[in-house]
Amino acid sequence: MARAYNKKVRPQKFEVDQQVLKHILPHQVEAKGSSGTLKLIDIPTSPTIVEYESIIIIESTPSVIEVGQVYEDKQTIASVMKHYSVMNKFQFRVKRSSARRYWLVPYYHLAYAVVDSENDASWKWFFEQFKHAYGKRPNMYVVSDQNECILKETSIVYPGMPHYSCMWHIWTNIRAKFKKGHLKLSELYFATARSYTLDEFNERMSKIEEIDPRVKAYLYDIGYHRWSRVHAMVNKTLTMTSNIIESLNAVTKDARERPIVELLEYMRTLLERWTNEKLLKAKGTFAYLGFKFNKELDDNRTFSHKLRVRASTDYIHTVLDGARLYIVCLENKRCSCGQFQLDELPCPHALAALRHKDESYEQYCSPYYTRESLLHTYEIPVNPLPDESKWNVPQHIT
Ligand SMILES: [Zn+2]
Repeated sequence: MARAYNKKVRPQKFEVDQQVLKHILPHQVEAKGSSGTLKLIDIPTSPTIVEYESIIIIESTPSVIEVGQVYEDKQTIASVMKHYSVMNKFQFRVKRSSARRYWLVPYYHLAYAVVDSENDASWKWFFEQFKHAYGKRPNMYVVSDQNECILKETSIVYPGMPHYSCMWHIWTNIRAKFKKGHLKLSELYFATARSYTLDEFNERMSKIEEIDPRVKAYLYDIGYHRWSRVHAMVNKTLTMTSNIIESLNAVTKDARERPIVELLEYMRTLLERWTNEKLLKAKGTFAYLGFKFNKELDDNRTFSHKLRVRASTDYIHTVLDGARLYIVCLENKRCSCGQFQLDELPCPHALAALRHKDESYEQYCSPYYTRESLLHTYEIPVNPLPDESKWNVPQHIT
């Protein structure tokens, strides 16, 4: 990697081991390459990722804010996709690297590296460093745009780790390949990917087939388990896209023209600032859950008030929403609507059952959604870089 640095600017402080991989947070691993998108997440529904997504999006690319609700709003889909198609082509080019071009591959936000290009060797190197620093933890998986290098090298460095596809990349491909009914298809496709039950999934998939059977075949060939929430082997309900990295790119737009050390220092201060902001936000939250999850719980609670509950046993409840019927099992934290188990947060039916039992919700939420988890995540600082006069520059680099 030393060869990939611009030697004129003494880059040794940005050696991965020194500056980047030391800062791995306990609750998330997320990564992405420029043309090959990648997300590694050790805990499927890490709140950190979602919280960061909100922050980045608000600051830089308002058109992406609505990703969570995209299939409810055609206008939003159009604007998000417009943004996405631009962002998807990004590269970090460092101007002063005259002899060779360099790309900053931002492994947001645990680790990032500078490599001469995205290829098998650079990805292999990255994953090896990553594994050295972070190891292998339960429930890790990769979300990528099916970039061949990523698939190949992660399979070598992390054998057996499940691979998923970013649902935005799939949609971009569908749009490019099939020219029919985009407006209807986009709405349906995202709703299908986000379906909580197989029935919902199958119903939506047959509508996709009606519009264009080739799209259904295309999605089938990718493998449903690679992009559909309800088919995934690992619960990844809140991490189905990698738009977070596209947003990071927008924030660093100006920095890309700077010399490499300045660029890396810009990245470091950016992450330092975001970490601090998130820490302050978590500290200023007084609910049991972090802000985002508390809001989701509140929404579910509001909805739950119109439901009627009939207890079958101490923990099994039938919940009626008008003519529709749901079965909640509090012991297994499951509901027939699918949300309770996939979101790891009580759905409206579960909240109605809990109210019926006069029981509180806390033990039914993922511990990763709590304010306490957020505090633990953000209390690990992004360390400041010492003054240049204090740098210990190895002889072979100067
Ligand atoms: Zn439910």
